[in-house]
Amino acid sequence: MKRWLWLPAVLTVVMLLLILNSSPAAEPALAVVPHRMIALTFDDGPDPAYTLPILQILRERGLHATFFLIGRNALAYPDIVRQIAREGHLIANHTLTHPQLQDLSEQQVRAELEGFTAVMTSILGPDARLSPYFRPPRGKESTAITQAVDLLKLQTVLWNVCVENHATSAPQDVFARVTQLVEARNGGILLAHDGELDRTLTVRSLPLLLDGLLAKGYRVVPLDEYLDASQAAADY
Ligand SMILES: [Zn+2]
Repeated sequence: MKRWLWLPAVLTVVMLLLILNSSPAAEPALAVVPHRMIALTFDDGPDPAYTLPILQILRERGLHATFFLIGRNALAYPDIVRQIAREGHLIANHTLTHPQLQDLSEQQVRAELEGFTAVMTSILGPDARLSPYFRPPRGKESTAITQAVDLLKLQTVLWNVCVENHATSAPQDVFARVTQLVEARNGGILLAHDGELDRTLTVRSLPLLLDGLLAKGYRVVPLDEYLDASQAAADY
């Protein structure tokens, strides 16, 4: 083969390798949505302005959620952390300071994840049952994150439908949009937020959304039950 013919061949191989390496890791939590099952998750709290009304909305309906807390916010509101645990919700790791985690080294990622656990232990006590679940800020992933998560025996859980969206500005619109997305998936892990930004619309939309989904026959279950059902459906 003439020498100049090698160049496109080598470039093609390099490009293929780049594409393969850049493809995101498979996300088990998103693989299979169990039939008409929903798990509620809240990120970025706690914040009294949003977490407390959300806890009341859940309590009134007998529902349980998973709170992916930021360690820094938990330190500011330890009583709310204790209330979340006392009311039977799962507490999960959303890092200590909510950095651009994908830009950090494995050691720095570990410090963020272990720092979160240390905060929770200081608030809830050494015997507190912490869930193994972890959600990276903004859903971003990297090799360093994957390695740290594996080392610490955590389980990354992303989501199927986000409640907040720039296209919706009234509870009725949030309700319509999220319900449509859930119906298209026949269920899924819902992500809403209870901290960091103004979450007034989320809190105002939640009763309408939950009552609507329950009326349609969806089962709102704790995340561990959802993931077990998802795994069972994947194995079937
Ligand atoms: Zn977040």
